[in-house]
Amino acid sequence: MEGNKKQRQKKTNNGKVVVERPRRSVRLQAKTPTQKQKSKEEDIEDIVKWGFSGDETQKIRESLLEWYDHNKRDLPWRYTNTAESEEEETKRAYGVWVSEVMLQQTRVQTVIQYYNRWMEKWPTLQHLSLASLEEVNEMWAGLGYYRRARFLLEGARMIVAKGSGFPKTVSALQKIQGIGDYTAGAIASIAFKEVVPVVDGNVIRVIARLRAISANPKESVTVKKLWKLAAQLVDPIRPGDFNQALMELGATVCTSLNPSCISCPASGHCRALSIFRHDSLVLVTDFPLKGVRVKQRQDFSAVCVVELLGGQRTSEGSQIDSREVLGGLEKIEGRQTNNRFLLVKRPDDGLLAGLWEFPSVLLDGEADLTTRREVIDHFLKNNFGLDTKQTCDIAFRKNVGEFVHIFSHIRLKIYVELLVLDLKGGGNHLSGIQDKATMTWKYVDGKALSSMGLTSSVRKVYTMVQELKQEKLSFSLTPSKKRSRTTRKKNNKSLN
Ligand code: SF4
Repeated sequence: MEGNKKQRQKKTNNGKVVVERPRRSVRLQAKTPTQKQKSKEEDIEDIVKWGFSGDETQKIRESLLEWYDHNKRDLPWRYTNTAESEEEETKRAYGVWVSEVMLQQTRVQTVIQYYNRWMEKWPTLQHLSLASLEEVNEMWAGLGYYRRARFLLEGARMIVAKGSGFPKTVSALQKIQGIGDYTAGAIASIAFKEVVPVVDGNVIRVIARLRAISANPKESVTVKKLWKLAAQLVDPIRPGDFNQALMELGATVCTSLNPSCISCPASGHCRALSIFRHDSLVLVTDFPLKGVRVKQRQDFSAVCVVELLGGQRTSEGSQIDSREVLGGLEKIEGRQTNNRFLLVKRPDDGLLAGLWEFPSVLLDGEADLTTRREVIDHFLKNNFGLDTKQTCDIAFRKNVGEFVHIFSHIRLKIYVELLVLDLKGGGNHLSGIQDKATMTWKYVDGKALSSMGLTSSVRKVYTMVQELKQEKLSFSLTPSKKRSRTTRKKNNKSLN
């Protein structure tokens, strides 16, 4: 990166080497509220001052489009701008919509697989409008932020129900559920060639550097100005290609931490680069200003994978001590072909709305195993009548482990436990218990569970449980003589 020449290494007291980046002294001085307000106003003035000239605009358009034509990545949702039928145009709009929503979730490489699977299942808007929310959630599983998937479905149903075709302009698109300024701009310019800008994180970064804008891009007044600057630049003949070129430049060349100014088609018009060349203490990566990260909330959850034994009971009414790991698992594995897992549907509002998960309880904070078991037992008894003293026996119970799952605003620590139950009276149906359930639930076999679209955290829980079983089983299948030899060897090793 051209702008990072001035980094230098320094050894700390504990011997670690850290990279130190020089800063202008003005950045280290605390500002009074009046100074802050003043500097904010100056930042905004900067934006107005640094609008593009006509000549500059023309040159940036030409160089960016030429660069895009030779360097754009081959992605399944990209089409050429040739004349086409209305049906093709609508199909393209639908593809742009789906891809843009997915791209807001994750990296391009991951999106390609999701996009291809989605298009295979629902090749047109009409197909999607007939899907159920459950199917859509399953297809979306792993991408996160499931509200966006629901909006896609609701938006598709809305357009089909209106019967007047795919909306073609930004103003008409913004009336559709889940389509905001960014997605509307992308669909209108790429699919329908409306001359409108698109501003996402990549475009913000490129424009902020081209104009050396140091205002906070998270503030609405700055965002408005950036939209205006993007509108100035957009090419009137090839608006869709130009918008994609700007986004592509941000994603591949003008990256957040390591911009490759040397291969940038707009370097001749880049004010951040020009400043750096005159004052190497100012780096191109200083633009735009980095926003302060919102502190994540810390939550705790106890998740219990409840597996109901299928087939015949081997010892009616007996309870296996959870410490007798091998005995318990042998019993489970012997009957596991008909085993079922209890899944609970989350409420229709809030985090991961309407998605399936293993029974879980939010905790007040860190909790030991005994406390967690108490809350889980209470939850299972109250909601499903699963009472380990009356309606079922514990065939196997084991603490599996824990992990942290990160949502945008929450750091969720998840404690995982496996609880295998043998229902009294045999079978694996919760009949008679159903009345007690105050939530939507179902039980599925292992095969169905493996092929279901589960959220990444639910999938992780299931994988942890499977790994535990595998580990215990491979141990139990090892002949006892060999096991004791291996144990002796291990003990000897540790003594040496
Ligand atoms: S726009 Fe181009 S020249 Fe300017 S910082 Fe980004 S990569 Fe470097």
